[in-house]
Amino acid sequence: MDGPGGPVRVRRIPGAGAEKSYRCPGCDLEIQPGTPHVVAWADDGDGDDRRHWHTGCWNARDRRRPGRWR
Ligand SMILES: [Zn+2]
Repeated sequence: MDGPGGPVRVRRIPGAGAEKSYRCPGCDLEIQPGTPHVVAWADDGDGDDRRHWHTGCWNARDRRRPGRWR
């Protein structure tokens, strides 16, 4: 899958696997524990740049922060 900044890997996290809250770069709000969401990171990275997104924000990322989501 291609992201605005290049190829990215994506993993969908079920609600049961979300034990922490994360800040979504799409809307700058927290993803509450227990919320199904999406994790994305650069395909050429080492995983340290993972970002947790609301599923809806991820789907709409091209309209939210073009090229700036990393
Ligand atoms: Zn969001």
